[in-house]
Amino acid sequence: MSIRTTTTALGAVLALSLAGAAAAEDLTPDLVRFKGLYKELVETNTTLSAGSCTAAAEKMAARLKAAGYPDADIQILVPPERPKDGNLIATLHGKDARLKPLLLLAHIDVVEANRADWERDPFTLVEEGDYFYARGASDDKAMAAIFTDSMVRYREANYKPRRDIKLALTCGEETADTFNGVDFLLKTHPTALAAGMALNEGAGGRLDANGKPLYLGIQAGEKIYQDYTLEITNPGGHSSRPFKDNAIVRLSRALANIGDHDFPVALNDSVRLNFAGSAKLESPEVAAALNALLKDPADAAAAELVARDRGRNSMMRTTCVPTMVTAGHAPNALPQRAKANVNCRILPGNDPRQVLKDLERIAGDPGIRIVLAAEPSAIAVTPPLNEAVLGPARKVAAKIWPGVPIIPTMTTGATDGRYTTAAGIPTYGLSGLFGDPDGGGTHGLNERIRVKSLYDGRAFLHEVVQLYADQK
Ligand SMILES: [Zn+2]
Repeated sequence: MSIRTTTTALGAVLALSLAGAAAAEDLTPDLVRFKGLYKELVETNTTLSAGSCTAAAEKMAARLKAAGYPDADIQILVPPERPKDGNLIATLHGKDARLKPLLLLAHIDVVEANRADWERDPFTLVEEGDYFYARGASDDKAMAAIFTDSMVRYREANYKPRRDIKLALTCGEETADTFNGVDFLLKTHPTALAAGMALNEGAGGRLDANGKPLYLGIQAGEKIYQDYTLEITNPGGHSSRPFKDNAIVRLSRALANIGDHDFPVALNDSVRLNFAGSAKLESPEVAAALNALLKDPADAAAAELVARDRGRNSMMRTTCVPTMVTAGHAPNALPQRAKANVNCRILPGNDPRQVLKDLERIAGDPGIRIVLAAEPSAIAVTPPLNEAVLGPARKVAAKIWPGVPIIPTMTTGATDGRYTTAAGIPTYGLSGLFGDPDGGGTHGLNERIRVKSLYDGRAFLHEVVQLYADQK
């Protein structure tokens, strides 16, 4: 039996889309099993406050063992001081051990969720209408479940890829300021994630308001997350006798200057490909502005128009914004100290220390001390978006979503790809999961994913992983 059994799986998916959610009961046995795995993972609470990634990792390990993976190829790596923050690494060995593995990276921790705020229990998988609802239903347990399910199916089909395929289900992606599993693994188990390429979250597909696929994203590169602390002190005094030099007033002026400032437009390869691809889907006015900017990034009128879309604005320039302020010590006293946090998302390849100098210039007040709030994380370079990366994605996408374009992108948020890319593992965001324009409640209330999107994404990843793993 050839491994390319996805054609029958593809047939099942298409049948499903034709018959809609009502046909869910008619799922093929492997989809029924997948749904069970997904449900088990989603319903294992992995929040920092009350959950356990280790428990979830053990459940997924049990499924891999049942599929025939030897103990030697399954590891659960737990930081000794954090027993609940375990990470699973499993390996499907390939024909040629000299080739660098393909890494399938997904985080199993989820953002907090308060039952009282949700319509349904966030830790029970609910299928209602066209959607699955639960915390982590999309971010990121959809991809974690799909990858684990594929590793089970590859093993059962005796599929032997050209290179090893590694699965990494990690903890702490949502809580990097407390603990991050990928960072932990890279520092303490350097070979655990070693690979020639990684697939990760970071880009999915976009649906229109009627659920029709518009484009499938593939992400290469992400902006650098960096906080800066601005602080000014003042002798203070009694507020009944104020004088002009006021710590809060000066800090406010500096923050207003930063808030008003637009960093220059600089388009990297991913963003260029994104703007060129998006222009084909946009209104004539926006398309003209996108193309004008591609021709001349200094075109201020085009930049002004393109920047009206917040997503594009943050893709085409470094952004810095005040996010927190603390000041003053008593309502009847002149403030002696005013402090603020400015959060910057810096274009890849730029040095956060240079941005510090820019902020000092923009703030325009040498009396305000500006420092890096934390040591900058390693500077990740944007991995190449060449045919070896785009080809397999296009090939499989054309089967599942005929005529739907693939549009590269750079994420303006942060993923664990920043650690792996900085460690020399070219990491791409490619989930194949199509989402609604409103973001589907990710990190918010009533997180959801379309049933069809989940099953389509499963068919897509199951096949595209094989193409990457067997690439010459
Ligand atoms: Zn995530």
